[in-house]
Amino acid sequence: MPTKTKSVKLPPSRAKISTNGAKSAKAHKYVYTWGAGKADGDGSMKPLLGGKGANLAEMSSIGIPVPPGFTITTEVCHDYYEGGKKLPEAVKPQVEAALNLVESQSGKKFGDSHDPLLVSVRSGAALSMPGMMNTILNLGLNDASVEGLAKKTGNARFAYDGYRRLIDMFGSTAMGVEHEAFEHELSKLKEEKKVKLDTDLTADDLKELVKRYKAVYSKHVGEGFPQDPKDQLWKAIMAVFNSWMGNKAVQYRRIERISELKGTAVNVQAMVFGNTGTNSGTGVAFTRDPNSGADEFFGDYLINAQGEDVVAGIRTPEPITKLDSEMPKVYKQLMDIRKKLELHYKEMQDVEFTVEEGTLYMLQTRTGKRTGSAAVRIAVEMVKEGLIDEKTALKRVAADSLNHLLLPQLDPKAKVTSVARGIAASPGAACGKVILSAEAAVAFHEEHPEQPIMLVRKETSPEDVAGMHLAKGILTQTGGKASHAAVVARGWGKPCVVGCDAIHIDEKKGQITIGDKVVKVGDYLTINGTTGDVMIGQVPTVDPTISGHFAELMSWADRTRTLKVRTNADTPADAAKAREFGAEGIGLCRTEHMFFEGQRIVDMRKMILADDTEGRVKALEALEPYQRKDFVGIFEAMDGLPVTIRLLDPPLHEFLPHDDAGQNEVAKQLGIPVEKVKRRVEQLHESNPMLGLRGCRLPIKFPEIGDMQVRAILEAAIEVKKKGKSVLPEIMIPLIGTVEELSILKKRALAVAEEVFKKAGTKVEFLIGTMIEIPRAALTADQIAEEAEFFSFGTNDLTQLTFGFSRDDIGSFMPAYIEHKILPVDPFQTLDQSGVGQLVEMGTVKGRKARKDKHGEHLKVGICGEHGGDPESVVFCHNVGMDYVSCSPFRVPIARLAAAQAVLGSAAQRDK
Ligand code: PEP
Ligand code: MG
Repeated sequence: MPTKTKSVKLPPSRAKISTNGAKSAKAHKYVYTWGAGKADGDGSMKPLLGGKGANLAEMSSIGIPVPPGFTITTEVCHDYYEGGKKLPEAVKPQVEAALNLVESQSGKKFGDSHDPLLVSVRSGAALSMPGMMNTILNLGLNDASVEGLAKKTGNARFAYDGYRRLIDMFGSTAMGVEHEAFEHELSKLKEEKKVKLDTDLTADDLKELVKRYKAVYSKHVGEGFPQDPKDQLWKAIMAVFNSWMGNKAVQYRRIERISELKGTAVNVQAMVFGNTGTNSGTGVAFTRDPNSGADEFFGDYLINAQGEDVVAGIRTPEPITKLDSEMPKVYKQLMDIRKKLELHYKEMQDVEFTVEEGTLYMLQTRTGKRTGSAAVRIAVEMVKEGLIDEKTALKRVAADSLNHLLLPQLDPKAKVTSVARGIAASPGAACGKVILSAEAAVAFHEEHPEQPIMLVRKETSPEDVAGMHLAKGILTQTGGKASHAAVVARGWGKPCVVGCDAIHIDEKKGQITIGDKVVKVGDYLTINGTTGDVMIGQVPTVDPTISGHFAELMSWADRTRTLKVRTNADTPADAAKAREFGAEGIGLCRTEHMFFEGQRIVDMRKMILADDTEGRVKALEALEPYQRKDFVGIFEAMDGLPVTIRLLDPPLHEFLPHDDAGQNEVAKQLGIPVEKVKRRVEQLHESNPMLGLRGCRLPIKFPEIGDMQVRAILEAAIEVKKKGKSVLPEIMIPLIGTVEELSILKKRALAVAEEVFKKAGTKVEFLIGTMIEIPRAALTADQIAEEAEFFSFGTNDLTQLTFGFSRDDIGSFMPAYIEHKILPVDPFQTLDQSGVGQLVEMGTVKGRKARKDKHGEHLKVGICGEHGGDPESVVFCHNVGMDYVSCSPFRVPIARLAAAQAVLGSAAQRDK
């Protein structure tokens, strides 16, 4: 039994009348019609009708001019695949009936040889998948009706142009003919006729082209182009359903992590034409600027063109404001519709329209994709305009999309020489090595995963998404603000410049030229997606700040959230930056990061290479002043806020070089024989260093290391306190698996503290707590909490040890795990709530209870693994009842917003 949609709202009274000829009044409704100011469905029915179908229904019912049509539901797509690629029986009669209705509403007949009704067939899933699914236009044309259309419009050129487009689209999308085979014929004919543009071909030329296209079709398909319009229609419908599982669509869903959809709907709609002459046109627009969020109508149009021409990026379109002078009446009508749509949907819309002989038709409206910065500005301004409230505004901005506002910009102090300027399609500055195809980008990334890619293309298409996703920035020669590259890049928050016609791409030579300058594949190129500028070489970038709309939204988030947000920072500069971004303390200061530079690494190596405790203590004495100085800087930057400092965690061999040259150098620096260095490296070698001598095991074996660190922390705290600042140190002992480890180290730390306080003649308040990174620690959290004053979940190691996945080696298998749906996402990125999450929850509950029972105290609980900055994981942390999350400075605003969304009960959205 095929599954039926249960959660979808059916329209109340229409359901009865709109079975449209289906055999029984009870037949399951698979087809929903709209037109003439009415509709079976409405905008809330996206899961069933797809975004496009639901919106067409909604637009039609609020009196927006929409050509009539019908939607075959997503449920049919689902049943089609469930039923072994067979359509449910009731679909056919319902489609026939709906087609009759479209005929009567448009006053035209499908396949008529005098004035034929032509239809478009488009996909439309519940979530937008731009350009991923097939679309076929002009269905209903055949050898007879094309003549009828020519006569009726008095424009044979237009009729035959439509016919040749149909054969191309139908052939390539429904029947698998290579689109290039048709393109080849088109180029050949243009050469023969000595013309440059498609529009220079005459009606007779196009008649000839139709003949040639039909020959291409027959050759590839093995039969003639179907002359029965219904035959065309059914094949087109099937093509849309089949494209749901096509490569492009599957790949897009994988990248976008879309797995919850039933399938695509099919929308069949009466065609209107933007290419009947200069009184017609077509365009796409956003009701507000999707880049900046400014309350300005934003988009492109083309006179005498069909819809696909604007988005395909083949012709560079005109900005929408110019339409005011070309078609003032239509422009005014569009401005009214823009207002009406925003008032109705209370959301920024992305619309498609066509003007046929001076009459405006809206073909689509949907929630517009936007950059993170635009999302913030639109949300805040809509609150001011009274369209939405603050809570809705907070839910509207996908937390991850704030990345956009935190993107680096070109350093204003840098000397910037722009060599070309295109259209600013997606903001932020990006720099990378020039690669000219998506496949080459994929191959380059496999070989050099650490190197940045700048993808430079004439235009992009859905086949390019894998390569686009890997690129730091995208630059295209053609296309407008709504071209494929622009839409996709904006959605991902990737800097992008389109329509940069000053660049010439020579794939064969592996280079691009910009004026007289040549940039080879592999050379650096920088783009500024905020202005559209293109620069040769690497231009330095700077970090952004929080102000204006962003600051306002953040203040609403702070008022709403209950979860605190701290940061992972190891330097005073990072701490200060994070504080600027709203961090309320440090949740993790990794002290090992302080030992890597200059003289510090030399002293660190002396300590590691020491023969005995005495030698080690001497080396540690040299290290202590550095540590103290760093802690002073961090405590000062975090005046009044808690600072969690973790004792040394990594295996010691990480501080020693493993190659001969490096080892010789160390021997020279330390004045010891190189053999000694080699011997120590060998001694320290471990089969599984992540499971070896690291974390709390280090101070258990070498207590003097822990002593030095505790002393440095507390002495620094006293020094800063003496300057009149407020210090709240939290000493964190990593990688605890048993309470005994913690008891020993805590006792030792307390003894050092007493010594320090005695010497200083003063005290500071401090806490001693632990990380929960080992499953055993979570399982015995009650015992550990009797000793620990706080818990911080180290979910990087906890994930590693729960799954048994080495966190440094997942690259070789994680993509396959995601592809085979073994895991929905990389568990090191988004917390595995059902597995690792259980340990986190259990650890929190058990730990809190034990601490309360034994000491009558609240156990402070936080997280400091990478998940602390992942919106979905932040929501989980809120729900578990943690006190805070801690993440890298640039994710602090993201975590603040996600924490507010957690309170508002909206699942934190992934950046879609
Ligand atoms: C962790 O394991 O989650 C953690 C924060 O520690 P590190 O990443 O330094 O191992
Ligand atoms: Mg760890």
